Amino acid sequence: MEVILAEHAGFCFGVQRAVDTVYEQIEKKKADGSLIYTFGPIIHNEEVVGDLQERGVRVLDSLADAGEVPKGKRGTVIIRSHGVEKAVCESLKEMGYEVVDATCPFVKRIHNIVEKESAAGKSIVIVGNAGHPEVEGIKGWSASATYVVESVEEAENLACSPGEELCIVSQTTFNYKKFQDVVEIFRERGYNGSVVNTVCNATEVRQAEARELAARVDVMIVIGGNHSSNTRKLYEICRQECEMTYYIQTLDDLHLKLPESVRLVGITAGASTPNNIIEEVQNYVRINF
Ligand code: SF4
Repeated sequence: MEVILAEHAGFCFGVQRAVDTVYEQIEKKKADGSLIYTFGPIIHNEEVVGDLQERGVRVLDSLADAGEVPKGKRGTVIIRSHGVEKAVCESLKEMGYEVVDATCPFVKRIHNIVEKESAAGKSIVIVGNAGHPEVEGIKGWSASATYVVESVEEAENLACSPGEELCIVSQTTFNYKKFQDVVEIFRERGYNGSVVNTVCNATEVRQAEARELAARVDVMIVIGGNHSSNTRKLYEICRQECEMTYYIQTLDDLHLKLPESVRLVGITAGASTPNNIIEEVQNYVRINF
């Protein structure tokens, strides 16, 4: 039996980079014993956060949290891939922390655009989910009026003045088609300014690849957390193409009895599934079937 692992299974580039940064810092700081923190959980995966905790990494949930740490214990804070407001970085430095920025370069690009365009006098429109940490972070790099728009309706009703020059960007994980629809409303309303497509296609690529793989194999295994909406979506996509699709969280959930006729097994995983879990499943299927 052949096992094919989807090339883009699991962590996207930005999340992998952030997680790697934490492990690198653990190694680096071993010698001087300085403490390591992440600003918010580095990823929504209990296993990874638990493993880091065992290695002494603590999570700071807010600036207030950071302020409560006694001065002598303020070591290195790692900023996760979502990024943070400019003021958060500055406050952490003022408190005496060393800030290691693991903001995904695709998100950082948005910060840079927003900082530059707002300084040039444009108002910023972020097409995305208000309250999402990435959007909050982006807002915090703007020096001018900033609006968050989630839907066509909100774009239609946005109270900005007709002469206002806009720079429109998107949350990286926003649906590209919806982004285009929102931009179209601003065009119809006659606003001036620039539009920068800042949608990241990591999710789309993972889904397209899963669909293509599921259509080729006899059995498909989708690995990811129970509450992970992107894994559920992957499962649904694969299920449409391959009737024998299984959704598991870890190897423990895999109780496969495969018919003799099965020749090809495909594996993919959601965005917060660590590599070691994917490898375990892959090796198990290779050895046991
Ligand atoms: Fe991952 Fe794309 Fe977000 Fe970066 S921007 S963290 S690559 S989904």
